[in-house]
Amino acid sequence: MGTLRNNPFFLTRLPHNKDLAAAIGDAFKEAGVPTGWFSVIGATKKAILAFYDQAEKGYRELLFPMPGEIVTCTGNVTTLDGKPFVHAHITIGFSDGTTRGGHLMKGTVLFAGELFGVAFEGELERVYDEVTGLRLWKP
Ligand code: ZN
Repeated sequence: MGTLRNNPFFLTRLPHNKDLAAAIGDAFKEAGVPTGWFSVIGATKKAILAFYDQAEKGYRELLFPMPGEIVTCTGNVTTLDGKPFVHAHITIGFSDGTTRGGHLMKGTVLFAGELFGVAFEGELERVYDEVTGLRLWKP
């Protein structure tokens, strides 16, 4: 059903009008893969990205309320608080050919998406890191 699997890789079509980060999480869940790496190409109807302010230790949101091409979106699925967690960075191309990029936030809506996933065995857990203020992989 729109998914090709050749362990440890899989290809999946992402659904129209769905939140991109949630769709990536669902694709891994449906493939039965709790830990992995991915790449997505496609298009967005609107996008919310973020820039991590290293001094303030907080995300600054960047809203792009127009259609765009997903030039590249890459990231991973690992474990946070016992649940699968999607971390993605994205570059979006706009109608004038310019690109913008950053950390993918909730609220980015898919027009279309094609995901290439790589499965890993086992779990990689995220924990809070005092130095960066981020939830990084357990050392
Ligand atoms: Zn990030």
